[in-house]
Amino acid sequence: MKSARIKLTDKGPDFSRFVLGFWRLTTWGMTTSDLIRFIEESLELGITTFDHADIYGSYTCEETFGAALEKAPHLRDSMQLVTKCGIKLISDNRPNHTIKHYDTSAAHIIASAENSLKVLNTDRIDLLLIHRHDPLMDPDDVAEAFSKLRSAGKVLHFGVSNFTPSQLDLLISRVDVPIITNQVEFSVMHVEPMFDGTIDMCQKNCISPMAWSSLGGGSLFSGDDERAVRLKNALSVVGASLGDKPIDQVALAWLLNHPAGIVPVLGTGKLERVRSAVESEALELSREQWFAILAASRGIDVP
Ligand code: NAP
Repeated sequence: MKSARIKLTDKGPDFSRFVLGFWRLTTWGMTTSDLIRFIEESLELGITTFDHADIYGSYTCEETFGAALEKAPHLRDSMQLVTKCGIKLISDNRPNHTIKHYDTSAAHIIASAENSLKVLNTDRIDLLLIHRHDPLMDPDDVAEAFSKLRSAGKVLHFGVSNFTPSQLDLLISRVDVPIITNQVEFSVMHVEPMFDGTIDMCQKNCISPMAWSSLGGGSLFSGDDERAVRLKNALSVVGASLGDKPIDQVALAWLLNHPAGIVPVLGTGKLERVRSAVESEALELSREQWFAILAASRGIDVP
């Protein structure tokens, strides 16, 4: 089975139904050849959209991915690259950073995007996200950076991550380019975005939210507290009634079955888990099944 496509807005862009994230790349122990194979096999499964951030791996993951693209440049046109900017970490790789902070000045956004282009070994970023809301964010400054990057052809689309509805609303009101997603933490383990206006705001603006840690960052499998056990039981019951489907597939299908067009971001470095995720696209949950999982997550039925 191959992953489907989804348009993040009615005008595009066209991304894979699942995005593959590279936050944990340094823990996967892959050589450049292993990474090229993993990218190729993911592309064969229809997963073409890859999520990065300047800071992943303490500013090393983009470069590791870029080394794969340098060796296999033909892969670039088959994929969409997402990356993020705006967080400044304390890191040996950034010795001039003295405190962890955010920077959404036009100068930093442009410099960060240009560095991402260089280390990723690409001439364009398909989607650039502001990683977190910056309390000192000047929306007009962000607008200026986005316009300059777009007119130079360096970044094709723009979005945000971890923005509240009002922060997203403010930015949308001031930029000249469409904001095409808000990438937020969302999974059966973290259902708050459906109740704090985050998903509503995306639906209102007809943009698809992306869900990071779409399997709870692995805690769905490793967790043994009361809630994790209850959730695993509920997912297993639904999985059994769908024809013995594993809980990862049911948890992802729960996101896919939401009408907001949620795009889950996967964090695995194992191809068999990517393949399993793609199979979840075939699962249709009834309302009763969907609400049983919600109730297990919250520990209570809806009022
Ligand atoms: P995730 O898919 O929820 O969690 C990945 C973890 O779960 C890995 O350790 C993986 O281990 C484990 N896992 C996956 N399937 C499993 C299974 N069937 N059984 C047991 N363990 C399993 O996603 P995430 O890595 O937390 O986040 C995904 C991506 O979202 C990141 O790579 C990054 O691109 C993005 N992200 C964005 C933000 C943001 O602020 N915008 C924040 C965090 C993450 P294996 O590798 O061993 O499979």
